[in-house]
Amino acid sequence: MGEATKLHIFLFPYMAHGHMIPTLDMAKLFSTKGAKSTILTTPLNAKILENPIKSFNQDNPGLEDITIHILHFPCTELGLPQGCENTDFFFSNPDLNTGDLNRKFLLSMEYFKEQLEQLLQTVKPDCLVANMFLPWATKLAEKFGVPRLVFHGTGYFSLCASHCLRLHKPYKNVASSSEPFVIPELPGDIVITEEQVIEKEEESVMGKFMKELRDSERSSFGVLVNSFHELEPAYSDFYKSSVAKRAWSIGPLSLGNREFKEKAERGKKASIDEHECLKWLDSKRRESVIYLSFGTMLSFNNEQLVEIATGLEMSGHDFIWVVNKSGSQGDKEEWLPEGFEEKMKGRGLIIRGWAPQVVILDHQAVGGFLTHCGWNSLLEGVASGLPMVTWPIGAEQFYNEKLVTQVLKTGVSVGVKKMMKPDGDFITKEKVEKAVREVMAGEEMRKRAKQLADMAKDAVREGGSSDIEVNRLMEELKLVRLQKEEEKRS
Ligand code: UDP
Repeated sequence: MGEATKLHIFLFPYMAHGHMIPTLDMAKLFSTKGAKSTILTTPLNAKILENPIKSFNQDNPGLEDITIHILHFPCTELGLPQGCENTDFFFSNPDLNTGDLNRKFLLSMEYFKEQLEQLLQTVKPDCLVANMFLPWATKLAEKFGVPRLVFHGTGYFSLCASHCLRLHKPYKNVASSSEPFVIPELPGDIVITEEQVIEKEEESVMGKFMKELRDSERSSFGVLVNSFHELEPAYSDFYKSSVAKRAWSIGPLSLGNREFKEKAERGKKASIDEHECLKWLDSKRRESVIYLSFGTMLSFNNEQLVEIATGLEMSGHDFIWVVNKSGSQGDKEEWLPEGFEEKMKGRGLIIRGWAPQVVILDHQAVGGFLTHCGWNSLLEGVASGLPMVTWPIGAEQFYNEKLVTQVLKTGVSVGVKKMMKPDGDFITKEKVEKAVREVMAGEEMRKRAKQLADMAKDAVREGGSSDIEVNRLMEELKLVRLQKEEEKRS
């Protein structure tokens, strides 16, 4: 394809690791398909992306370069704390992690409108992949004839569950918020409770924002989903026929990272030397280690962390545990039982901060994944063929949990009943022990998980289901471009 006919795609992620990581993976994927990608983001986020992008461009001289366009984001003028350019900020500054500031951060994305408008007008990309939290992007792109694609960052199952819950509001007909009910219309007779359902308050500021978001999605070019058909066929069919105008499955995106360096460089710089971590894992028996991570947005109180530690010890299994504790607790780590690390030496590895997650999940010594069910993590666990202990915290994670426990049957719940906010559940050491033991011993679950991992790898191979969908998308975008050129000529 000549220079003039190469597609140029803009990608505009939400400023959170859970969105930026798959966005970079998407840019890499487009690059392998011969398209140029430009990621739009702010200075601090650009710093996170710079190195992996530089490595990718250097290591793939035959492919189209990925570039970053830096956007202006004056935090303090927008009423946000200085340096608040990523949701990670709230995590590192727990005192500022309030609902109000989080909401303000989300709604301040609107500040980018003008800059995006100018860019669309001058650069005229062939497509804009904008995060779902940028609902105004659809109209803006339309103004310049640019197709806007929506990226939610989650899978089909939760998108469909949200749709059915919103439409039928079955939680209005139950006696209590903990009474289980079946989600109407959703394939599979999925059971959930009201306390696990999100977005119920349609008249709130957020409720109205979410409606705006859905409206903008309906008038967009379509939706990109980081999933693969074989993982959730009933839900991908349901979504495409009953929820969205059009959708393309392009995942698992994490599988595009084939080299060790690429896998290790996702998100923040790891808090542990990747090679040290591998050496530790190399010393372990096959499938003997459980890996625990709660994603990028959450930190438990000390009491819960002590309970997790004790439950892990009681399980008898080796473990790698990522603890997102910010540095504000002083020297004494009250979140660990006295002498715990010394006692667990050789048996358990605690990573304080950021783990090279995909490197760990891919190691043959890892045999289970205790996850908060963020979609990226869940899909990475699927791609690595791991049975899971599910420990959802909030957002759409309870829906993702049901996919694992009720549909795929590759995991068990640790027993969390309700969202962490406002009051959450306390999970005892016995529950942690039981769930870890069950998953590590669950041969049937493991067998199914491995089959899914094979399907995931097949999906992204040349001629696989996701590969075909990406190719189709590229062809459609080229067609749109040709049509525009013809219109201009006539
Ligand atoms: N991640 C990582 N190391 C960590 C924590 C998270 O590499 O210590 C990555 C993880 O692999 C995933 C993303 O960060 O790609 C988290 O996204 P997810 O949707 O799982 O969770 P979120 O934090 O957005 O709730």
